[in-house]
Amino acid sequence: MSLNKSYLMTPGPTPVPADILLSMARPIIHHRTAEFEDTVREVRAGLQYVFNTENDILLFASSGTGAMESSIVNCFCVGDQVIIARNGKFGDREKQIADTYGLKVIDLQYAWDEVVQVSDIARELEANPEVRGVIVTQSETSTGVLNPVKEIAALVKDRPDTIIIIDSITGIGAVECETDDWGLDVVMTGSQKGLMLPPGLAAVSVSEKAWRAVERSTIPKFYFDWKKYQSNIEKNTTPFTPALTLIQGLNEALKMMRAEGREDMIARHSLLAEATRQGVEALGLKLFAPPEGRGSAVTPVWAPEGFSAGDIVKIMKEDYGVTITNGQDDYKNRIFRIGHLGYFGMFDIITTLTALEMALTKLGYDFEQGASIKAAESVFLGA
Ligand SMILES: *Cc1c(COP(=O)(O)O)cnc(C)c1O
Repeated sequence: MSLNKSYLMTPGPTPVPADILLSMARPIIHHRTAEFEDTVREVRAGLQYVFNTENDILLFASSGTGAMESSIVNCFCVGDQVIIARNGKFGDREKQIADTYGLKVIDLQYAWDEVVQVSDIARELEANPEVRGVIVTQSETSTGVLNPVKEIAALVKDRPDTIIIIDSITGIGAVECETDDWGLDVVMTGSQKGLMLPPGLAAVSVSEKAWRAVERSTIPKFYFDWKKYQSNIEKNTTPFTPALTLIQGLNEALKMMRAEGREDMIARHSLLAEATRQGVEALGLKLFAPPEGRGSAVTPVWAPEGFSAGDIVKIMKEDYGVTITNGQDDYKNRIFRIGHLGYFGMFDIITTLTALEMALTKLGYDFEQGASIKAAESVFLGA
């Protein structure tokens, strides 16, 4: 077959809906204009809705990692103690950034298929009253593990000099993230995940407690200096040339998200995740994330014994045009990851499962053809 239609089934970048693409096809406007300020005003309110917060939200022209680095350089001083709870690639990155800037990291390292334990954080907070920050990845994109952010935040809420920083880069839009109700001081996301945009834009919400940490921080910063962004966002603008096109697209994305509604959006992700899990399990495959901590952004799956995840990913892409992704670091070729974050519907899951079945058949894996589709359909039918 000569035409292979392309399907992007990864947890970032994620597919961009046509209405958003079209909103970004409009000519570039200048950013020091009332027109742009109107867009920023709408975007601020839309982001507050999606983040469940009254806090202001800062926007950077960067990928998600820029937001992560910005939170370290704005909230701390060299030598500050922070607890980093990590169970995957992005938690590891938080530690690398904190090490880079000379923070004293209390390192709670878990296996990649474990969930962060609230009791460990409680113990470290008790033992180290000087701790200035607790840093956790809500939805670990490398593993699909969902960490108990609400319970961890409850430990930090009443400590006036300790803030909680959440990497919700694949959490926002896909799983519950009640920024204000749970008392999350810093929450970040990136455009190419649940916001359904191309890469290049990051957003961070900052609580009052976090602003007090910012006042105290002495780490040098320039481009990512939050205070510059704050004084500008209050005037509906940004200190430097913004990612204009992406902000135009974000405005459209937020309209779509509001039209669907936060709760329905999260329910949709959880249904898609459940159908994916039931589908792969019906093929005799094993899920990577443990039952007590499975998120709705991505489903990582063990390749069957004796098979390479890389081969599965390659055949799905090259023969069928369906892009999923491999495991990372130690799990490369051992697990594959199916994304269902952002602009995904039921038939994206059916398509992906069909391509997976076809790739597995080609590789000689023995299973009952159609079993994953049947299982996914049952989930969608509520059967
Ligand atoms: C994508 C992602 C990031 C940021 O990665 P960038 O490539 O810099 O956008 C950080 N944390 C998590 C959990 C992510 O999924």
